[in-house]
Amino acid sequence: MALMTGEQYIESIRKMKMNVYMFGKKVDCPVDDPILRPSLNSVRMTYDLAQMPEYEDLMTVISPYTGKRINRFTHIHQSTGDLIKKVKMQRLLGQKTAACFQRCVGMDAFNAVFSTTFETDKAHGTHYHENFKKFMMYVQDNDLTVDGAMTDPKGDRSKAPHAQEDPDLFLHIVERRADGIVVRGAKAHQTGVLNSHEVIVMPTISMGPEDSDYAVSFAVPMDTPGITMIIGRQSCDTRKMEGSEMDVGNSEFGGVEALTIFDNVFVPNDRIFLCGESEFAGMMVERFAGYHRQSYGGCKVGVGDVLIGAAAVAADYNGAAKASHVKDKLIEMTHLNETLYCCGIACSAEGHPTESGNYMIDLLLANVCKQNVTRFPYEIVRLAEDIAGGLMVTAPSEADFRDPTLGPVIEKYLKGVSGVSTENRLRILRLIENLSLGTAAVGYRTESMHGAGSPQAQRIMIARQGNLAMKKELAKNLAHIKE
Ligand code: SF4
Ligand code: FE
Repeated sequence: MALMTGEQYIESIRKMKMNVYMFGKKVDCPVDDPILRPSLNSVRMTYDLAQMPEYEDLMTVISPYTGKRINRFTHIHQSTGDLIKKVKMQRLLGQKTAACFQRCVGMDAFNAVFSTTFETDKAHGTHYHENFKKFMMYVQDNDLTVDGAMTDPKGDRSKAPHAQEDPDLFLHIVERRADGIVVRGAKAHQTGVLNSHEVIVMPTISMGPEDSDYAVSFAVPMDTPGITMIIGRQSCDTRKMEGSEMDVGNSEFGGVEALTIFDNVFVPNDRIFLCGESEFAGMMVERFAGYHRQSYGGCKVGVGDVLIGAAAVAADYNGAAKASHVKDKLIEMTHLNETLYCCGIACSAEGHPTESGNYMIDLLLANVCKQNVTRFPYEIVRLAEDIAGGLMVTAPSEADFRDPTLGPVIEKYLKGVSGVSTENRLRILRLIENLSLGTAAVGYRTESMHGAGSPQAQRIMIARQGNLAMKKELAKNLAHIKE
């Protein structure tokens, strides 16, 4: 089976016996849970769109390793064209879900681990690249969703992994056996982890020789004994349990994060991709982060498209669409959103092959992309709220709207332009609320800040990649300075 249908994907996740907790209770069937289901639907969209002929070129590709048509989310990028298509695919999915569709983390881990294992093997004579290729082809053949787990809890930020008071604050090897390793630790805010068949674990920072037990990368199925997920709360998450799809704003789609604990998890030898070669931890981190910073120039832009559209609809329904300041605000939102897209496309077009043969984005431009993402969505949200008006947060509930006595009163007083129902006006405002303050705000706002690394992480990379010495030389030459 090279491509799964959306339904087959859902059923394949249903069969997995994962250890998931939420609100102090074990969730026996996450697939049918009303709070969690929208996040599964978002990943499902990566399967559904791949089945549609009009998206075949964007969503699928022939694998150079298996020779079969695979989902692009499991692909190893072969060209800058592939990198560009990746960003376009992510924009499309953002437009269709207005949420985080989660599957990119695995794609980005795939490409980072592919090239890093190649270079680690060259330096150390290890066999990690073969291990990874075997795993990669298994994922491609079965069209699996893979999570990428990087962020350790990190404890005291001023201390290296080995110097932490509690050694488990960075995930580490606790036992080396003939048939594999045993690891312990946790990965924080793991996007989509419970909707994934497998997880690739990677180190979270550059490491020195003393941290060699922490320089570890591997893949395991998500129902491996010892793995526990504790679901993170999202703003307004329990609205999904109230039975009103209208009040949720975007009832069908969402994202999800979990604190994921690895309590003495066994990893067999052929699933290990890094095991103690501490000088390669930084390379893996930098490459994964670079790919995921590129990703944000696609996914966040697609969600931005929905938010801009929603603000424009709200203006239409208010009768404010012709006001020049409203038009200008929509232009500004578009300008900001397309600037992010420019960054996503530019770092892809300027990509280059790695030693292993797969394609890497331009790191400087990818970091500039993500740095802009830490700012522009906030401004786009601010302008959307400006256009929407205060009713976005003061509108009565659907229960009041459906009440035989209160409903007609709400209908009368919250009406906008003629020819548009009050219900439609409230629906578009709820969508804006969802994107700016509700469950989707996790993916569109705070994730824009911290996902794929917080702003300072990009500034460090921009400083490193910015080539200031070359720029100084340019200036000195023109000023005829001889030192
Ligand atoms: Fe994909 Fe964006 Fe979610 Fe990352 S934040 S997994 S790039 S949708
Ligand atoms: Fe993310």
